[in-house]
Amino acid sequence: MERDLYKNTFTEEYVPDYLCPRCNKGLLRLNKDTLKSVETVDSKIYQRNEYSEFQDVQITFNCMFKCINDKCGEIVACTGHAGVDIDYDDFSQPNEYYTYYKPLFFYPNLKLITIPEDTPDNIKKLLNKSFELFFTSPSAAANLVRVSIEEILTNQGVEKINNLHRRIEKLPKKHESLKTKFFALKWLGNAGSHSGDSITDDDAMDAYELVEDLLLKIYSSKDDELNMLANKINTLKGPKK
Ligand SMILES: [Zn+2]
Repeated sequence: MERDLYKNTFTEEYVPDYLCPRCNKGLLRLNKDTLKSVETVDSKIYQRNEYSEFQDVQITFNCMFKCINDKCGEIVACTGHAGVDIDYDDFSQPNEYYTYYKPLFFYPNLKLITIPEDTPDNIKKLLNKSFELFFTSPSAAANLVRVSIEEILTNQGVEKINNLHRRIEKLPKKHESLKTKFFALKWLGNAGSHSGDSITDDDAMDAYELVEDLLLKIYSSKDDELNMLANKINTLKGPKK
């Protein structure tokens, strides 16, 4: 996954290429007319102090993004906090002030990893909930990935017992090679539920990359389909009729 995309702030001039969560094809573009920001009351009070700096200003914003795919055109709402900083020119001299925006919530949620179509609905739902919380709480996001792997195990026929470690050990033989990744996700999820904010956005993104690979290996039929196609061509010793 393109990590910087979800970690960085944006400005009116430079908005990251978020992918549309509806069509997964078009990029989202900021509708500048919808970008509204206000300074918080506490920030206004603080700014009355003579020692206050403009970088301390606290701003709340909301805006709408629109998908550029003309067959889609989905609208995605975004809210978060903003701040002001100085841009420096090529000679390291202060050039101009600019406002940066840090998204904390998107609705509908962005799709942070690819979930194969054949993934069971309850697992899709848990992961989408995780993507929704990612920007405000990486711990809660990682914890939901852990809950989703419990569901993957259930879906793969592993008995429901109150010990995730033992459940992973009981994975069917055909998934033997995936156990290491399941265990890693267990540790990340544990940290997410027991120690508050010790999970960083990078840790949560580690969890996403690991679970993305598990989903691909367990629920994507692409690999099987290509094997069947190759077998067919080999049997015919040429192109399919
Ligand atoms: Zn779209």
